Amino acid sequence: MQLLPKTVAPLPDELLAGWLSRLAASDHCEVPDLLAHLQIEARHVATMDLEVEARAAERIFMAGRIDPACVQSMTFAAMPEATMRLTAQVPFQACPARTARDLALKHWRRAWAFDCQVCGARLLPTFAKQDGEAASKRLVDRARHGAGVLKRAANSSSASQLHRAMRAVTFAMGLKALRGDPACALQSSMPEVRLFCLVAVGGRQLRPLAKAALFSIGADDYARIALLRAYEKELRLLATINQITRRKPGRTRLPTAVSHT
Ligand SMILES: [Zn+2]
Repeated sequence: MQLLPKTVAPLPDELLAGWLSRLAASDHCEVPDLLAHLQIEARHVATMDLEVEARAAERIFMAGRIDPACVQSMTFAAMPEATMRLTAQVPFQACPARTARDLALKHWRRAWAFDCQVCGARLLPTFAKQDGEAASKRLVDRARHGAGVLKRAANSSSASQLHRAMRAVTFAMGLKALRGDPACALQSSMPEVRLFCLVAVGGRQLRPLAKAALFSIGADDYARIALLRAYEKELRLLATINQITRRKPGRTRLPTAVSHT
């Protein structure tokens, strides 16, 4: 195997696939050509962010002339289960700064990441499925606060903190009649879903949020079951929900619900 004519230094917090794509660009080729040159079989280069085989890692550090330990440190290998669930396997948000366009940083993948740690810009969804209305500053600030709470919970040794945060996400999903895994909702490519879930994580008092949301969406049976499951011990909250759903047969959207809390 020949050394590559040019190499680029990995940046702090950079992911392996991102660095490989910068490396390929500096050598005027595409990533698949680079991998073929290195005799590395990878169905998709993104899988290498999660795990890289020792032999492949060796070829990469030799060809790129970087520290062997650096290759493994650019992957997400060996994470605690809870952190892994809150780490996206594919990019879902990125820094909008022009200088960040070709980069892929590790912290952007965390469900709790809200602002770019390099430049401070708010991270934006990579593939927004809908344009949606621009979120109000108040909503964004609350979501940012919730992201901070989630980060502390994820990094704390107390399982109950994280459990409480995820329960709030289940609650928010119930309000929006969303099905699925709460950890995925936090990585949603629909900005309003992610923001709403983060707001719920940061909410010390969830009843106003429930009230506001139910007034604007109406809860279907699934939502009510999800709420019951998440909040079986909070009878007053459930009583409020029942009262509202009886009174309001339901409208369909939730554009500004959280601004009323
Ligand atoms: Zn940035």
